[in-house]
Amino acid sequence: MDGGKLMAAVTTIGDFTVSRAEEMIAPLASPTQMFPDFDKTEFDRHLPWLTKGHYDPATDLLKLSIHSWVLRTRHHTIVIDTCCGNDRDRPKFPIANKLASGYLDNLAACGVAPQEVDFVLCTHLHVDHVGWNTKLENGRWVPTFPKAKYLFGKADYEFYGADNAKDAARPTQHGSFNDGVLPIVEAGQAVMIDGAHAIEDDALHLESAAGHTPGSLVLSAKSKGEAGLFVGDALHHPIQVFNPDWSSRFCVDPVASAVTRQRLMEQCADTDCKLLPAHFCAPHYGKVSRKGERFSLAFGDDVAF
Ligand SMILES: [Zn+2]
Repeated sequence: MDGGKLMAAVTTIGDFTVSRAEEMIAPLASPTQMFPDFDKTEFDRHLPWLTKGHYDPATDLLKLSIHSWVLRTRHHTIVIDTCCGNDRDRPKFPIANKLASGYLDNLAACGVAPQEVDFVLCTHLHVDHVGWNTKLENGRWVPTFPKAKYLFGKADYEFYGADNAKDAARPTQHGSFNDGVLPIVEAGQAVMIDGAHAIEDDALHLESAAGHTPGSLVLSAKSKGEAGLFVGDALHHPIQVFNPDWSSRFCVDPVASAVTRQRLMEQCADTDCKLLPAHFCAPHYGKVSRKGERFSLAFGDDVAF
């Protein structure tokens, strides 16, 4: 491993390295827009840390990061979630409309060339998780990662595929099913995951996390007694660690999403497992611990609060 790769690592899980390729930091929605069960008194209790990069009180907007996690084991390079992608027409999703980000440069800074990627995991098939599955080349959407197997939740593929087939004038997920998912299936690179699935013996395996979407998946990584859980959008924002019952307005099944979130927080707390979500702002990951009946969070290597 060269120095550049070491420099790009955000954290480690035993022998595994974890890097992060950012697409953007987006002030996306107010807490009341984001969480139908939002409680201002509870939210304000957390303002001292929320205002350190996770919420802007001047605009009342939550800040979210859109990034890929890059997990490297001795055997595999895995890109987890692929953001929004460049060159897309997304008139009703302005932050991603005709995007021209430096995402691929940021991926290169992680020491990753697209042809080296073995697996791409889309934790679910929303517009901000499938974009860089493909890139525009001579007017066609082609796989960005030419040798990778792309792992999709079967239930998501069926759910959004059925929706997408209904009305060609209103393609599902802002058109991302058509330009980020179907070209991968047509290229023969998609693997539909139905339930639990081992990628690397006991070290890497996928688990169902239905709720946010029907086919949501989480990736569990274990090495040398350490563990990490890549949870996608089981949580959008760190405030949900403290309030697992706050499902987002983007959740297909808010009740199931809350049950799954509670279960995942228990799993992280009880197994000393790093929590690696798709949208937390810096430092982007943390550790969950139990605090009475609820949970607390330590960002990065900090102490829980
Ligand atoms: Zn998302």
